[in-house]
Amino acid sequence: MKIKIGIIGGSGLDDPKLMKGIRERRVTTPYGPPSSPLTTGKISGVETVVLARHGRGHTIYPSAVNFRANIHALKQAGCTHILATTAVGSLRTRIRPGDLVLMDQFLDFTRHRIMTFHDKGAVVHTPMAEPFCGTLSGLLSRTARELKLRHHARGTVVTIEGPRFSTKAESHMFRKLGADIINMSTVPEVVLAREAGICYQAIAMSTDYDCWKEEEEPVTWEMIVRIMGENAEKVKGLILKAIPRIQYTDCSCRGT
Ligand SMILES: [Zn+2]
Repeated sequence: MKIKIGIIGGSGLDDPKLMKGIRERRVTTPYGPPSSPLTTGKISGVETVVLARHGRGHTIYPSAVNFRANIHALKQAGCTHILATTAVGSLRTRIRPGDLVLMDQFLDFTRHRIMTFHDKGAVVHTPMAEPFCGTLSGLLSRTARELKLRHHARGTVVTIEGPRFSTKAESHMFRKLGADIINMSTVPEVVLAREAGICYQAIAMSTDYDCWKEEEEPVTWEMIVRIMGENAEKVKGLILKAIPRIQYTDCSCRGT
């Protein structure tokens, strides 16, 4: 079985020096058009598709991202695996700005998002005990270790609706609930990927300490952009090294 990798986010990977035979495809889906055209090509000989979650110019705010169209577009393109990049705030001292986190659980605090492809017709209840792909996450963790990147092999993300950041009370609450990192984009992306039977793993880049840590400045958008810029090469390097190692295996993600 041939594999095809979908990358959500991944700015810089659609560089002709890295991706061969680049083509840009404008597509649409039964749920409308995805956030950006699909950039297709080969990275290390592996078919890859890159999609910008927030649009090419980062113009789509989190609640307005058409997650169903994005996942459906990658499914239509034949993607068997998705690597998603995301900036996160850290809720733990040990997760420092610039660290990578390979999350393995989520808490869903979104409010206004469509969570399923099965909103019409037969009722479907998708198991979600292990929402991320353990096979992909293990491979990424081994690769990050080889590259000597500071990373955390597990972690619980809480996804909030946004676009505002948390209050201090909320930030402390999420820590008490067991969340390690916080963002605005993983849910429902991971849920829809599971419904679509695609192996999905998010690579989180920690950019700040949200607002719970008294000795740190509360998070601002400028802070996120600066740390992302300084550390973007780490995520890119990890993805480039991991892609040729991904294989098609029987995975419970594709189960049902
Ligand atoms: Zn999987």
